[in-house]
Amino acid sequence: MPRVLFVTSECYPLIKTGGLGDVCGSLPPALSALGVDVRVLMPAYRAALAHAGRLQRVAEITIPEMGVTAGVLEGQLPDTHVGLWLLDWPAAYDRSGNPYLDSSGTPWSDNAQRFALLARAAVQIANGRVGLAWQPEIVHAHDWQTGLVPALLAPQPVRPATVFTIHNLAYQGLFPYETFRSLNLPDSLWSIGGVEFYSLLSFMKGGLTFADRITTVSPNYAHEIQTPAFGCGLDGLLGARADVLRGILNGIDHETWNPATDPHLVQPFTFEHVEDKKANKHSLQIQLGLPAASTLPLIGWVGRLVEQKGIDLLLDALPELLRLPLQLAVLGSGEARFEQALRTAALQAPDRIAAVIGYDEALAHRIEAGADIFLMPSRFEPCGLNQLYSLRYGTVPIVHRVGGLADTVIDGNSENLRNQRANGVVFDAPEADALCAAVKRALALYREPTVWRSLQRAGMEHDYSWRHSAAAYRDLYRELVDGRMARPA
Ligand code: ADP
Repeated sequence: MPRVLFVTSECYPLIKTGGLGDVCGSLPPALSALGVDVRVLMPAYRAALAHAGRLQRVAEITIPEMGVTAGVLEGQLPDTHVGLWLLDWPAAYDRSGNPYLDSSGTPWSDNAQRFALLARAAVQIANGRVGLAWQPEIVHAHDWQTGLVPALLAPQPVRPATVFTIHNLAYQGLFPYETFRSLNLPDSLWSIGGVEFYSLLSFMKGGLTFADRITTVSPNYAHEIQTPAFGCGLDGLLGARADVLRGILNGIDHETWNPATDPHLVQPFTFEHVEDKKANKHSLQIQLGLPAASTLPLIGWVGRLVEQKGIDLLLDALPELLRLPLQLAVLGSGEARFEQALRTAALQAPDRIAAVIGYDEALAHRIEAGADIFLMPSRFEPCGLNQLYSLRYGTVPIVHRVGGLADTVIDGNSENLRNQRANGVVFDAPEADALCAAVKRALALYREPTVWRSLQRAGMEHDYSWRHSAAAYRDLYRELVDGRMARPA
């Protein structure tokens, strides 16, 4: 079975800011269950050290290009058998809070150094130079923070194969030319065919240009990013690499997100006892200070408060939405202007809108369980996990037809309802009017209990676990390893 080194900047439950953390926490154990020998390398952030359990210092990595000797702390991804290595260089990683931003929401000024260090360390492990008695056949790097790994490995005549996964193309890790110089990267990388992107250093391009295989987190997003509308300026490059690019839909952690066993819920439930969902709605309404109206549809929202997620569409739609019989529960953090607008909206309509500004894992679970409807009007969405959690929790999603949302949510039109395939409501234009029309459609479906039950059934009985997609990654690894063995010496 292939030996695979996962290199990532976040990994649940050690640290998570979004879907990348969820995926890097749940895909490795799923791969391991399929027999893949996978180990995870990530920075020893303060939060990661606090949550990792027992760790042992097993090696030192000297990185002459950066004048650094970092430690390698070995442990296991909590509650799994997956090996974990934390790269310990306190000056770069031992900080409180967010892995990318300081307390004022500004990117850490040394992010390029922090993630170049992670990449250089990964390369040394990949080359078996660290004395870990384990060498990967494949290095699987994730998002811009690890984009330099394929770039640095590519010129080596003998090296592991590389896979680079795009979790969100919009975050590219762009830095000035001076940073490129200060990182002591090979001169040969400074070109349009390398990591240069309009006179800036692009970490993301390192992955896209040099990886042996590129994956992204849904089939639809794999197509979209080859078009100017979604390609963030990299659609040409991605089109040129289409032969090695594929979309593999994210799975979810079926243990952590299981309505039957979720410890955050006041009343666990299954589809057979979906009426037990009501107790979670009641308790959520009380917790959020909303009237405990059992029949009033409660719409949930969890996510980053940024334009990508369409939070501005929701804010624009609020006057119209408040004319409808519904309540709204929002949990999120992000841009100050959106946080402020939500706080104001909740103050003005306290009986209808609850807004919790912040990051709260338990409340995210409680909203997934307690809401009737989940709203995800994202402008673009590589895969999206919250709609999958919603589907599993019998909370019917309303989504914009884009990226992974289009791959996973099936509109409740009459044909899909007849075929019992429908599991949500899908709208086509990222506009407030279209969002309102979709909410009205959802409310009409909600008023028909049998129809609503069939939407819930389609979501709750579908398998969103990693079973299929982990096998797709394993097959990709096998393909790479077999390809190498077959290559003439
Ligand atoms: P993205 O990675 O673009 O943020 P995803 O839908 O792929 O979006 O994943 C988001 C993950 O982060 C989900 O697990 C979601 O529940 C979680 N999340 C986002 N915002 C919050 C928040 N404010 N509090 C708790 N969890 C959050």
